Amino acid sequence: MIIKTAVFVCSNTKVSALPAPDKPEYAFIGRSNVGKSSLINRLVNQHGLAKTSQRPGKTQLINHFLINESWYIVDLPGYGYAKVSKSSREAWEKFIRNYLTKRESLQCVMVLIDSRHEPQQIDLDFCYWLGECGLPFAIVFTKADKQGAGKTDQNVAKFRKSLSAWFEEIPPVFVTSAEKGEGREELLGFIEEVNKD
Ligand code: GDP
Repeated sequence: MIIKTAVFVCSNTKVSALPAPDKPEYAFIGRSNVGKSSLINRLVNQHGLAKTSQRPGKTQLINHFLINESWYIVDLPGYGYAKVSKSSREAWEKFIRNYLTKRESLQCVMVLIDSRHEPQQIDLDFCYWLGECGLPFAIVFTKADKQGAGKTDQNVAKFRKSLSAWFEEIPPVFVTSAEKGEGREELLGFIEEVNKD
């Protein structure tokens, strides 16, 4: 897919204030610092569209970016930030659940996983929850340039194995590097295919 335009549309703190659900959208989510903003910027080749390294645990925003005037990238607040209070965590859960389970134009949840680590329970739990809700999702490993391909492959295989205990069919898996651009074409190609359906 060729990205012709990528425009920030709005930030919302309330699901009720989101733009009309008249275009397909793809939500990007993962642990704080997973590389979500960097990946979004790389996908659209626009440095600074999504802000990188924001202080985690601050205002929880749903950011909509309109791509090629026809579909949205949705940047969701991250999870798993250790210093966040229990009440903030619960507020996050409520907010995210509300968005993910009610958004009729949502096509796929892109769950970002840091490729440097072995499977983390918090990421697996989130995937299981998406499965329970019947929400389509894809696994997007980030920061693949940070270690050798062998190490990435090992972590990907372990994650797939953990998921296979719960899922008959493993969702699509992508390995990416915002730094090098690895996986960009594949991810955009996947979105293009889903958009066609
Ligand atoms: P976010 O909090 O999930 O939005 O994460 P950011 O995009 O702000 O990235 C967190 C940190 O990881 C920043 O210092 C980025 O420069 C770095 N980072 C993100 N993606 C990559 C990548 O693909 N490769 C490398 N080497 N560093 C990355």
